[in-house]
Amino acid sequence: MIDEVAAHARPYVGRGQVADYIPALERVRADRFGIAVADIHGEVYGAGDWEVPFSVQSISKTFSLALVMSQGHGSPGGPGGSAGYHEDEIWRRVGREPSGTPFNSLVQLEAENGIPRNPFINAGALVVTDRLLTLTGDASTALLHFLREESGNPDLAFDQAVADSEAEHGDRNAALAHFMASFGNLENPVPRVIEHYFWQCSVEMSCRDLAVAGGFLARHGLRADGSRLLEAREAKRINAVMLTCGTYDAAGEFAYRVGLPAKSGVGGGIVAVVPGRCTLCVWSPGLDARGNSVAGAAALDHFTTLTGWSVF
Ligand code: GLN
Repeated sequence: MIDEVAAHARPYVGRGQVADYIPALERVRADRFGIAVADIHGEVYGAGDWEVPFSVQSISKTFSLALVMSQGHGSPGGPGGSAGYHEDEIWRRVGREPSGTPFNSLVQLEAENGIPRNPFINAGALVVTDRLLTLTGDASTALLHFLREESGNPDLAFDQAVADSEAEHGDRNAALAHFMASFGNLENPVPRVIEHYFWQCSVEMSCRDLAVAGGFLARHGLRADGSRLLEAREAKRINAVMLTCGTYDAAGEFAYRVGLPAKSGVGGGIVAVVPGRCTLCVWSPGLDARGNSVAGAAALDHFTTLTGWSVF
Protein backbone atom coordinates (compact mmCIF):
# COMPACT_ATOMS: atom_id res chain seq x y z
CA MET A 1 0.00 0.00 0.00
CA ILE A 2 2.89 2.37 0.78
CA ASP A 3 4.27 1.62 -2.69
CA GLU A 4 0.91 2.47 -4.17
CA VAL A 5 0.83 5.79 -2.30
CA ALA A 6 4.37 6.52 -3.53
CA ALA A 7 3.38 5.69 -7.11
CA HIS A 8 0.38 8.00 -6.84
CA ALA A 9 2.61 10.84 -5.60
CA ARG A 10 5.24 10.36 -8.33
CA PRO A 11 3.69 12.74 -10.91
CA TYR A 12 3.69 15.49 -8.29
CA VAL A 13 7.37 15.10 -7.42
CA GLY A 14 9.35 18.05 -8.72
CA ARG A 15 6.30 20.32 -8.82
CA GLY A 16 6.35 23.45 -6.73
CA GLN A 17 9.35 25.43 -5.62
CA VAL A 18 12.25 24.21 -3.49
CA ALA A 19 12.75 26.64 -0.56
CA ASP A 20 15.32 29.21 -1.63
CA TYR A 21 15.38 31.70 1.24
CA ILE A 22 18.73 30.21 2.24
CA PRO A 23 21.35 28.74 -0.12
CA ALA A 24 21.75 25.58 1.98
CA LEU A 25 18.15 24.53 1.24
CA GLU A 26 18.15 25.66 -2.37
CA ARG A 27 20.75 22.98 -3.18
CA VAL A 28 18.43 20.07 -2.30
CA ARG A 29 17.38 17.95 -5.29
CA ALA A 30 13.77 18.56 -6.29
CA ASP A 31 13.19 14.96 -7.47
CA ARG A 32 13.35 13.47 -3.98
CA PHE A 33 10.37 11.65 -2.50
CA GLY A 34 10.11 9.48 0.58
CA ILE A 35 7.37 8.11 2.79
CA ALA A 36 7.54 6.22 6.09
CA VAL A 37 4.79 4.84 8.29
CA ALA A 38 5.54 3.78 11.88
CA ASP A 39 2.72 1.93 13.57
CA ILE A 40 2.08 2.13 17.30
CA HIS A 41 3.76 -1.25 17.87
CA GLY A 42 7.06 -0.12 16.39
CA GLU A 43 6.84 -1.59 12.89
CA VAL A 44 8.14 0.83 10.26
CA TYR A 45 7.42 0.69 6.53
CA GLY A 46 8.84 2.97 3.88
CA ALA A 47 9.26 3.70 0.20
CA GLY A 48 11.43 5.94 -1.96
CA ASP A 49 13.97 8.17 -0.19
CA TRP A 50 12.58 7.35 3.22
CA GLU A 51 15.99 6.93 4.84
CA VAL A 52 17.58 10.08 3.39
CA PRO A 53 18.02 12.87 5.97
CA PHE A 54 16.57 16.30 5.19
CA SER A 55 16.16 19.58 7.03
CA VAL A 56 13.22 19.25 9.43
CA GLN A 57 12.65 23.03 9.62
CA SER A 58 9.21 23.78 11.07
CA ILE A 59 8.46 20.14 11.90
CA SER A 60 10.75 20.77 14.89
CA LYS A 61 8.05 23.10 16.25
CA THR A 62 5.88 20.10 17.15
CA PHE A 63 8.68 18.42 19.06
CA SER A 64 9.76 21.52 20.96
CA LEU A 65 6.15 22.08 22.04
CA ALA A 66 5.90 18.45 23.18
CA LEU A 67 9.16 18.81 25.08
CA VAL A 68 7.95 21.94 26.88
CA MET A 69 4.65 20.24 27.73
CA SER A 70 6.47 17.15 29.00
CA GLN A 71 8.47 19.17 31.50
CA GLY A 72 5.73 19.01 34.12
CA HIS A 73 6.19 15.28 34.63
CA GLY A 74 9.91 14.53 34.78
CA SER A 75 11.92 15.26 31.74
CA PRO A 76 13.78 13.72 28.87
CA GLY A 77 15.17 17.20 28.26
CA GLY A 78 17.75 17.50 30.98
CA PRO A 79 17.94 19.60 34.14
CA GLY A 80 15.02 21.84 34.91
CA GLY A 81 12.78 18.88 34.26
CA SER A 82 10.47 19.71 37.10
CA ALA A 83 10.87 23.46 37.01
CA GLY A 84 7.32 23.97 38.10
CA TYR A 85 5.82 23.83 34.65
CA HIS A 86 2.05 23.84 34.52
CA GLU A 87 0.16 22.65 31.53
CA ASP A 88 -1.58 25.92 30.86
CA GLU A 89 1.46 28.12 31.34
CA ILE A 90 2.60 28.17 27.73
CA TRP A 91 -0.93 28.97 26.58
CA ARG A 92 -0.81 32.30 28.37
CA ARG A 93 1.95 33.35 25.99
CA VAL A 94 0.84 31.74 22.75
CA GLY A 95 -2.64 31.06 21.34
CA ARG A 96 -4.10 28.05 19.60
CA GLU A 97 -6.07 29.50 16.74
CA PRO A 98 -5.16 29.24 13.07
CA SER A 99 -3.49 32.42 11.91
CA GLY A 100 -4.73 32.54 8.33
CA THR A 101 -1.47 34.33 7.54
CA PRO A 102 1.92 33.06 6.31
CA PHE A 103 4.17 31.33 8.85
CA ASN A 104 6.55 34.26 9.13
CA SER A 105 3.98 37.05 9.15
CA LEU A 106 4.33 40.03 11.48
CA VAL A 107 0.94 41.62 10.99
CA GLN A 108 -1.15 39.98 13.72
CA LEU A 109 1.42 40.47 16.43
CA GLU A 110 0.86 44.18 16.87
CA ALA A 111 -2.92 44.00 17.01
CA GLU A 112 -2.71 41.04 19.42
CA ASN A 113 -0.17 42.53 21.84
CA GLY A 114 2.77 40.29 21.03
CA ILE A 115 0.86 37.02 21.66
CA PRO A 116 1.30 34.79 18.58
CA ARG A 117 -1.75 32.99 17.27
CA ASN A 118 -0.34 29.49 17.69
CA PRO A 119 2.91 27.59 18.42
CA PHE A 120 3.37 26.42 14.82
CA ILE A 121 3.94 29.76 13.15
CA ASN A 122 7.42 31.21 13.61
CA ALA A 123 6.42 33.76 16.27
CA GLY A 124 4.72 31.09 18.35
CA ALA A 125 7.64 28.70 17.98
CA LEU A 126 10.02 31.43 19.15
CA VAL A 127 7.96 31.71 22.35
CA VAL A 128 8.08 27.93 22.83
CA THR A 129 11.86 27.91 22.22
CA ASP A 130 12.21 30.74 24.74
CA ARG A 131 10.29 28.68 27.30
CA LEU A 132 12.42 25.61 26.56
CA LEU A 133 15.52 27.72 27.02
CA THR A 134 14.32 28.78 30.47
CA LEU A 135 13.37 25.22 31.43
CA THR A 136 16.49 23.44 30.18
CA GLY A 137 19.21 26.10 29.88
CA ASP A 138 19.99 24.80 26.36
CA ALA A 139 16.90 24.46 24.20
CA SER A 140 18.48 23.18 21.00
CA THR A 141 20.61 20.51 22.72
CA ALA A 142 17.61 19.39 24.78
CA LEU A 143 15.58 19.11 21.59
CA LEU A 144 18.33 17.19 19.77
CA HIS A 145 18.62 14.70 22.64
CA PHE A 146 14.86 14.32 22.74
CA LEU A 147 14.74 13.64 18.99
CA ARG A 148 17.58 11.12 19.22
CA GLU A 149 15.79 9.32 22.03
CA GLU A 150 12.37 9.25 20.39
CA SER A 151 13.69 8.28 16.94
CA GLY A 152 16.14 5.72 18.31
CA ASN A 153 18.79 7.28 16.08
CA PRO A 154 21.79 8.46 18.14
CA ASP A 155 23.42 9.98 15.05
CA LEU A 156 20.92 12.80 14.53
CA ALA A 157 22.70 16.12 14.26
CA PHE A 158 22.30 19.77 13.40
CA ASP A 159 23.28 20.92 9.93
CA GLN A 160 25.78 23.66 10.67
CA ALA A 161 25.49 25.18 7.17
CA VAL A 162 21.70 25.47 7.49
CA ALA A 163 21.88 26.95 11.00
CA ASP A 164 24.50 29.52 9.90
CA SER A 165 22.50 30.37 6.82
CA GLU A 166 19.29 30.80 8.85
CA ALA A 167 21.13 33.23 11.11
CA GLU A 168 22.62 35.13 8.20
CA HIS A 169 19.19 35.55 6.58
CA GLY A 170 17.31 35.74 9.87
CA ASP A 171 16.14 39.36 9.88
CA ARG A 172 12.48 38.51 9.83
CA ASN A 173 12.66 35.98 12.66
CA ALA A 174 14.75 38.47 14.62
CA ALA A 175 12.09 41.10 13.97
CA LEU A 176 9.37 38.77 15.26
CA ALA A 177 11.39 38.06 18.39
CA HIS A 178 12.22 41.71 19.07
CA PHE A 179 8.61 42.66 18.58
CA MET A 180 7.43 40.07 21.10
CA ALA A 181 10.18 41.10 23.51
CA SER A 182 8.86 44.66 23.36
CA PHE A 183 5.55 43.29 24.66
CA GLY A 184 7.35 41.39 27.43
CA ASN A 185 6.60 38.00 25.86
CA LEU A 186 10.19 36.66 25.91
CA GLU A 187 12.05 35.55 29.02
CA ASN A 188 15.50 35.35 27.41
CA PRO A 189 17.54 37.79 25.30
CA VAL A 190 16.48 37.86 21.64
CA PRO A 191 19.88 36.76 20.22
CA ARG A 192 19.85 33.61 22.36
CA VAL A 193 16.25 32.76 21.49
CA ILE A 194 16.75 33.08 17.75
CA GLU A 195 20.05 31.22 17.86
CA HIS A 196 18.36 28.22 19.50
CA TYR A 197 15.41 28.51 17.11
CA PHE A 198 17.76 28.37 14.10
CA TRP A 199 19.57 25.34 15.49
CA GLN A 200 16.29 23.56 16.08
CA CYS A 201 15.19 24.21 12.46
CA SER A 202 18.49 22.82 11.15
CA VAL A 203 18.20 19.29 12.54
CA GLU A 204 18.50 16.66 9.81
CA MET A 205 16.20 13.65 9.97
CA SER A 206 14.81 11.09 7.54
CA CYS A 207 11.16 10.16 7.05
CA ARG A 208 11.91 7.06 9.08
CA ASP A 209 13.41 9.07 11.96
CA LEU A 210 10.48 11.49 12.04
CA ALA A 211 7.74 8.86 11.79
CA VAL A 212 9.29 6.90 14.66
CA ALA A 213 10.01 10.01 16.74
CA GLY A 214 6.39 11.18 16.39
CA GLY A 215 5.06 7.85 17.62
CA PHE A 216 4.01 9.27 21.00
CA LEU A 217 1.41 11.40 19.23
CA ALA A 218 -0.26 8.25 17.85
CA ARG A 219 0.13 6.43 21.18
CA HIS A 220 -1.75 9.09 23.15
CA GLY A 221 1.43 10.31 24.82
CA LEU A 222 3.25 7.00 25.39
CA ARG A 223 6.79 6.41 24.15
CA ALA A 224 7.76 3.28 22.23
CA ASP A 225 8.84 1.55 25.46
CA GLY A 226 5.47 2.20 27.10
CA SER A 227 6.70 4.96 29.41
CA ARG A 228 4.68 8.15 29.47
CA LEU A 229 6.01 11.28 27.79
CA LEU A 230 2.77 13.26 27.78
CA GLU A 231 -0.61 12.86 29.39
CA ALA A 232 -3.19 11.61 26.90
CA ARG A 233 -4.93 14.99 27.05
CA GLU A 234 -1.68 16.76 26.17
CA ALA A 235 -1.07 14.54 23.13
CA LYS A 236 -4.67 15.22 22.13
CA ARG A 237 -4.03 18.94 22.36
CA ILE A 238 -0.87 18.85 20.28
CA ASN A 239 -2.70 16.82 17.62
CA ALA A 240 -5.57 19.30 17.68
CA VAL A 241 -3.25 22.25 17.16
CA MET A 242 -1.46 20.35 14.38
CA LEU A 243 -4.78 19.79 12.64
CA THR A 244 -5.88 23.42 12.88
CA CYS A 245 -2.50 25.18 12.57
CA GLY A 246 0.20 22.70 11.46
CA THR A 247 0.19 23.58 7.78
CA TYR A 248 0.01 27.37 8.24
CA ASP A 249 -2.60 29.20 6.24
CA ALA A 250 -3.43 26.00 4.33
CA ALA A 251 -4.65 24.10 7.42
CA GLY A 252 -8.28 24.21 6.27
CA GLU A 253 -7.40 22.89 2.84
CA PHE A 254 -5.20 20.23 4.40
CA ALA A 255 -7.96 19.06 6.75
CA TYR A 256 -10.27 18.93 3.72
CA ARG A 257 -7.87 16.85 1.64
CA VAL A 258 -6.09 14.72 4.23
CA GLY A 259 -8.05 14.94 7.48
CA LEU A 260 -5.16 14.25 9.85
CA PRO A 261 -3.15 16.27 12.36
CA ALA A 262 -0.02 17.24 10.44
CA LYS A 263 3.01 19.48 10.66
CA SER A 264 4.96 20.64 7.65
CA GLY A 265 8.33 22.29 7.19
CA VAL A 266 9.93 24.22 4.34
CA GLY A 267 12.47 21.42 3.95
CA GLY A 268 9.57 19.57 2.27
CA GLY A 269 8.73 17.19 5.10
CA ILE A 270 5.27 16.63 6.58
CA VAL A 271 4.58 14.54 9.68
CA ALA A 272 0.99 13.30 10.04
CA VAL A 273 -0.65 11.38 12.86
CA VAL A 274 -3.40 8.77 12.80
CA PRO A 275 -4.21 8.66 16.53
CA GLY A 276 -4.28 5.11 17.88
CA ARG A 277 -2.72 3.68 14.70
CA CYS A 278 0.43 5.19 13.26
CA THR A 279 2.58 8.23 12.52
CA LEU A 280 3.64 9.00 8.95
CA CYS A 281 6.25 11.20 7.42
CA VAL A 282 6.42 12.20 3.77
CA TRP A 283 9.15 14.23 2.13
CA SER A 284 9.53 15.94 -1.20
CA PRO A 285 11.20 19.35 -1.43
CA GLY A 286 8.92 21.10 -3.96
CA LEU A 287 6.63 23.46 -2.01
CA ASP A 288 3.32 25.12 -2.83
CA ALA A 289 2.78 28.84 -2.30
CA ARG A 290 2.05 28.31 1.38
CA GLY A 291 5.23 26.36 2.08
CA ASN A 292 3.82 22.81 2.11
CA SER A 293 5.26 19.92 0.08
CA VAL A 294 3.19 19.40 -3.09
CA ALA A 295 3.97 15.69 -3.53
CA GLY A 296 3.85 15.15 0.23
CA ALA A 297 0.31 16.50 0.44
CA ALA A 298 -0.72 14.42 -2.59
CA ALA A 299 0.69 11.29 -0.91
CA LEU A 300 -1.13 11.93 2.38
CA ASP A 301 -4.34 12.70 0.51
CA HIS A 302 -4.08 9.34 -1.28
CA PHE A 303 -3.10 7.52 1.92
CA THR A 304 -6.22 8.59 3.83
CA THR A 305 -8.40 7.96 0.78
CA LEU A 306 -7.04 4.40 0.43
CA THR A 307 -7.14 3.50 4.10
CA GLY A 308 -10.11 5.51 5.29
CA TRP A 309 -7.86 6.45 8.21
CA SER A 310 -8.59 10.09 8.87
CA VAL A 311 -9.97 11.67 12.01
CA PHE A 312 -13.20 12.42 10.15
N1 GLN B 1 13.58 28.11 9.26
C1 GLN B 1 12.32 28.49 8.71
C2 GLN B 1 12.01 29.92 9.11
O1 GLN B 1 12.17 30.23 10.25
C3 GLN B 1 11.23 27.57 9.16
C4 GLN B 1 9.91 27.89 8.53
C5 GLN B 1 9.16 26.71 8.04
O2 GLN B 1 9.63 25.58 7.94
N2 GLN B 1 7.95 26.99 7.66
O3 GLN B 1 11.61 30.73 8.30
